[in-house]
Amino acid sequence: MACECEKTVYVIGHKSPDTDSVTSAIAYAALKKAQGMDAVAAVAGEINSETEFVLNHFGVTTPEILKNAEGKSLILVDHNEVGQAVDGFESAELLEVIDHHKIGGLTTSGPIFFHNEPVGATGTIIATLYKQAGIEIPKEIAGLMVSAILSDTVLFKSPTRTEKDKLAVEELSKICGEEPMEFGMELLKAKSNIESKSAHDIVKGDYKHFNFNGTKGGVSQIETMNLSDLKERRTEILDEMEKVRTEDGLDFVLLMLTDVMKEASDLLFVGQPAEKFEAAFGGKIENNSICREGVLSRKKQVIPPLEAVFGR
Ligand code: MN
Ligand code: MN
Repeated sequence: MACECEKTVYVIGHKSPDTDSVTSAIAYAALKKAQGMDAVAAVAGEINSETEFVLNHFGVTTPEILKNAEGKSLILVDHNEVGQAVDGFESAELLEVIDHHKIGGLTTSGPIFFHNEPVGATGTIIATLYKQAGIEIPKEIAGLMVSAILSDTVLFKSPTRTEKDKLAVEELSKICGEEPMEFGMELLKAKSNIESKSAHDIVKGDYKHFNFNGTKGGVSQIETMNLSDLKERRTEILDEMEKVRTEDGLDFVLLMLTDVMKEASDLLFVGQPAEKFEAAFGGKIENNSICREGVLSRKKQVIPPLEAVFGR
């Protein structure tokens, strides 16, 4: 225990990492390092095309993939559910959590620094933590945080966005020199480049496990600028969802096909119980899906209605 302070601390986001998870790990590891901690950013899986675009754009190297966290010291960013955490999490030492999701049943043996705030992105929280620490935000880190906030809030269209997110982007974009909305459109294009994606990438690119009162579900989301791009690949995608459901031992897999321009989602569903899915979204399944206008956020508009029908 005496050398605990010498140990490398891994700052890591959730599995199927998105831009907020990856950039928050980088930004927070840099902050911790500036404060004297031996902190290093890691990722819990391959990064997606949007994150790759962001890291290239700001000239930041991709963090190492941490395959197993057994025996390591961890700071979790952008998640707090064990089911979404890196493999080996149960046998790791948890030091901190910085997140903006619902609290999902995490327990610890001692007190930890736990900062959870209902804002649009973890990036917004980390920008605040830099301020509190009185540490100047490097240009490229500011760019990463702008990307995270614009990505998580779908250019502020998602109901998860708050005034704090807008203020953060305003300040950070001055540091990194990007015009936020212009850059946001580039980001969206990189994210919704689905032609080049396999069905597997579409289903698992932004994929999370949830336990709904004993019913296990995988809930995925893919954003596109035009939903009809996916029309002819529907069967292929549904087959892949069923495959993922079986492989991961789940009751159902739900995929949000989100049209960011029309601001609507096609909610694809495979597995059981279908009647709960229909009850949650107030409709009948047609063609394996229910379409919902105005639904953009998994966290705010998909998980809560599911929790409401399954109970907690
Ligand atoms: Mn995330
Ligand atoms: Mn996030």
